[in-house]
Amino acid sequence: MSGLIQADVLVVGGGPGGRVSYMALKQLGVENVKMVANEEPTVICSLPYGVGRRLVPAGPEAVVVDLSKSHRLPPTILQDVIQGNVAALDLDRREAVVEGKGGRQSVTFGHLILAPGAVPWIPPVEGVLEDPGTETGTGILYGGEWVDKGRLAGNVFVLRGANDARRLDAFAAKAKRAVVVGTGAIGLETAEALADRGVSVTLVEALPHVVAALDEEMAARVQARLQEKGMTVFTGARIERVLPEGLKLEDGTVLQGDGVVFATGVRPDLRLAKQAGLSTEKGILVDSRMQTSHPRVFAVGDAVQVVDGATGETILPLIGTLAMRQAMVAAANIAGRPMDLPPVTVWGVSEIFGLHWGSVGWTEEMANRAGIPVAGISLPVRTRDPFMPEGRDGVWKLVVATAPRGSVKPGQILGFQVAQDGDSPLFLAERFLDMISRRETVMDLFGHYFIHSPAHNAVDDPYLGLLNQAMQLFGR
Ligand SMILES: Cc1cc2nc3c(=O)[nH]c(=O)nc-3n(C[C@H](O)[C@H](O)[C@H](O)COP(=O)(O)OP(=O)(O)OC[C@H]3O[C@@H](n4cnc5c(N)ncnc54)[C@H](O)[C@@H]3O)c2cc1C
Repeated sequence: MSGLIQADVLVVGGGPGGRVSYMALKQLGVENVKMVANEEPTVICSLPYGVGRRLVPAGPEAVVVDLSKSHRLPPTILQDVIQGNVAALDLDRREAVVEGKGGRQSVTFGHLILAPGAVPWIPPVEGVLEDPGTETGTGILYGGEWVDKGRLAGNVFVLRGANDARRLDAFAAKAKRAVVVGTGAIGLETAEALADRGVSVTLVEALPHVVAALDEEMAARVQARLQEKGMTVFTGARIERVLPEGLKLEDGTVLQGDGVVFATGVRPDLRLAKQAGLSTEKGILVDSRMQTSHPRVFAVGDAVQVVDGATGETILPLIGTLAMRQAMVAAANIAGRPMDLPPVTVWGVSEIFGLHWGSVGWTEEMANRAGIPVAGISLPVRTRDPFMPEGRDGVWKLVVATAPRGSVKPGQILGFQVAQDGDSPLFLAERFLDMISRRETVMDLFGHYFIHSPAHNAVDDPYLGLLNQAMQLFGR
């Protein structure tokens, strides 16, 4: 051991959850806070756009957070960051062992906030890894096995941190063809980024349609847009192995690519929580104050599982802005200001080749899999009145419970989806996010007033349109 550091609060992880925990603790007057970070902090959400260089022309470097200049973080962060990996935790002794370039250090703490995040998950097929690789200290899950990212084969890419983006950026500069596996927001944003760099992209999806966060008929709009823009899309595809020249599917098809990007989801990094003896299931277990099974340990961000506000089901939201809210809650409780996390719902909003899509809460397909009886209500929308040439088409969809199940009541709005050209549906998604997490029913739509302004939307009130359909569905 090269030294002993004492902290009132130790934060593990330098992602959005860790950084906002640090910032909130300082704002709340907690003086002695240390944060262990094992990679350069970034604005992760902007990494695909850094690779694409259209929206972030300066490339991935512009997305790296310079701690010394970040206006969001207190200047003390520089002296309070310990570079390295927390290799072991002893909760009885309140001690963490940090391994870094400076050797091993011991840090004692009064409270601990775990924010280790999630790591990319890659299906365990041949050709993904190479030996011996170089150690980076950050990893992926290869099937169920945590593997250092330095072991990824030269033609295999993921996108989670600054170094991943740098690798992908260098690849985009010289590649002609790429295969992107996974068609969630990250897969599609990465595919568009590569297309923006002139790379021809083939998309591969294991599920029957692209974008699992959308139902099939909504996802069909996204898939059509991808194909219009020249992308080949394979759905229901099973991967056999990564080849030097691309990707082989189980049916024998070989997809040519200079590289293969895996955007096949992420899983909570539970290594440290398990080693410390904390309760875990899909993620680290926390209560509404973000407290784990140990009273002095709090956990936030992608590593924790939470209760879905609408249904009471356990969910892994994996959302950056939620990690930040959770960090505020953990910090406030540690600082002696009791606070609960408001009800949570999952959301995702993205844009691909000008088509905006968003999904909040449950799709019909997810509800069916969970055995929740639901119906879908769809409404075509136009972003301006028909006589205004800049109007664009879109569709909204509500997923509504049709019968009671557990705490779910008939008529309760469980999900909202939108796909539209032209205008961002962000504020719309936020409105439905509130309705869903507050367990409102379709009848409550009447209380949500519609504002019309010709420069912004068409005159038809979509909330009344949905309400009318819902009343027919429920015989009202
Ligand atoms: C390409 C991309 C686009 C995204 N877009 C959006 C978006 O538009 N909106 C949105 O809300 N969310 C988005 N997300 C999700 C968002 O980035 C995550 O939800 C968020 O990063 C979670 O924050 P976190 O702090 O919990 O975890 P992370 O960001 O994963 O940070 C955890 C950090 O802790 C480190 N760590 C782990 N173990 C240790 C240890 N033992 N010692 C030291 N350090 C450790 C990890 O290496 C990592 O650096 C996106 C994610 C990606 C990858």
